[in-house]
Amino acid sequence: MINILLTVDDIHPEEGFGFHDEYEFNLKRLIDAGIKPTLFVVPQWHYKMEFHISKHKEWIKSFGENVEWAIHGYAHYNPNIGRDVWQEFNEVSEQKAVELVDMARFAIKNATGTDPVGIRFPGWVISQDNMDSLLTNCNWLDYYALHSFGTELMNYKDKIIVPLTKEIHKLYELKLHHDNINIILHAHISPGENGTNENSLNDENTEAI
Ligand SMILES: [Zn+2]
Repeated sequence: MINILLTVDDIHPEEGFGFHDEYEFNLKRLIDAGIKPTLFVVPQWHYKMEFHISKHKEWIKSFGENVEWAIHGYAHYNPNIGRDVWQEFNEVSEQKAVELVDMARFAIKNATGTDPVGIRFPGWVISQDNMDSLLTNCNWLDYYALHSFGTELMNYKDKIIVPLTKEIHKLYELKLHHDNINIILHAHISPGENGTNENSLNDENTEAI
């Protein structure tokens, strides 16, 4: 069986990242069209209190039960290194990686009332040791969204999903090993320094919906 998820990452309560902006509007258009998107949310972007999702329950509530909440790191930032993106789960101890996932789970459950269903790591990157540790210690997660960039997909058995756009050449190989294949149609927000691209959930790319 092949399951398809429509996912959006970097969601957090800041204008330009799905909060009172064109991305939120376009997400709600998808919902109105009968699609239940998965939101990869960052529960406390860069450890800033004003972006903690617990402070924005009205915004969370505005999505109703029409979305699936999932984890996209805890802060999308590593304060020990002072950098964003891939260092959050790559350049930390195994214990810290588990702690970050537990913190994200707690914050999301507290704000949305439901357990997050899966995780996509910032920048798609996680070390093998930390991945092994999470598979042992956080087996409540339904899936890990992984990418061959920075990871080896085949090690993670059935708990993987792959982005269709980047990994379509892997599907045949995966089908040989797994009964169920989960595919992501992944949309991107990050309007900051990364800019928009063809996956962005902006007005231009969603005109046809
Ligand atoms: Zn991200």
